[in-house]
Amino acid sequence: MYRYIFGPVPSRRLGYSLGIDPLPSKICSYDCVYCEVGRTIQKTIERKEYVPADLILDELFRFLEETRFRIDVITFSGSGEPTLHSGLGYMISKIKERTDIPVAVLTNGSLLWLDEIRQELKVADIVIPSLDAVSPEIFIKVNHPHLSITPDKVIEGEAKFRKIFNGKYWLEVLIVKNVNDKESEYRKIAEAVKLINPDKVQLNTVVRPPGSGRAEPVDVKELEKLQLIIGEKAEIIPPFEAKSEKGGNLTLLDNLINMLEIRPCTLDELSAVLGVEKESIKMALEGLKYKNIMIEKEVNGEVFYKIKRKEGVV
Ligand code: SF4
Repeated sequence: MYRYIFGPVPSRRLGYSLGIDPLPSKICSYDCVYCEVGRTIQKTIERKEYVPADLILDELFRFLEETRFRIDVITFSGSGEPTLHSGLGYMISKIKERTDIPVAVLTNGSLLWLDEIRQELKVADIVIPSLDAVSPEIFIKVNHPHLSITPDKVIEGEAKFRKIFNGKYWLEVLIVKNVNDKESEYRKIAEAVKLINPDKVQLNTVVRPPGSGRAEPVDVKELEKLQLIIGEKAEIIPPFEAKSEKGGNLTLLDNLINMLEIRPCTLDELSAVLGVEKESIKMALEGLKYKNIMIEKEVNGEVFYKIKRKEGVV
């Protein structure tokens, strides 16, 4: 079993993404209402080597040797804010020395005002920072940031990073019903997008069950409204399209646990990623349910499965 590597999971933007989770759960500079992982246990902006970087790399390289999954991208994400790991730049460089698989970093963007982080992320292939609000009161409502972080600081850091980063730079905006879904806020976000100048702006809403159950999705019409205001760079993230493939030499149960420990998935997604018929997946899920280590939750008519976290929060 692997501790820091998960997936490959179906990503609506990246295809089959092999995740690296470089932080113990759950350390972040935000505590977003929509977070799939659950409430932030340690809200901080302190960078340190929370887990030895070489341990993570050893596991990753072992995984790449041992398995035969299709992997489109290696993604730093997981159960916290990856830029808080002080070895992030070192790990990205080492991965790029060993493999041609593109490296992506999903970040909330809150620490890009730090020059050292901009320099470390420069060597990644894809960086996807977030910006969910510009007005301070809405920013607090949606992201519950560390006290030292303001929207101006986030926008400044994201704009500075654009100037030195030549890879794919996609800004993510996530809209939550009754939180940041006001037209006046959309216009402010559109102004910030001009300053940041990303390659694309990906519009998203709550798709998977948030860990604390606090956030609700908006209708696609809201995302279309925001898309019109931002203009041609904006796109609505499409649902994951299933492509069938692969196998691997872990058991089906191991693979399911690996995937569902990190993020909730639907039956269709599990079947597509693991290349296993839905009936077999259903039986394995029943087994996990029987052992009382898995929960299921319905969002927008779709059932998502997830492994329970040890402390009982999902
Ligand atoms: S969604 Fe991302 S940024 Fe927000 S609390 Fe969760 S891990 Fe942190």
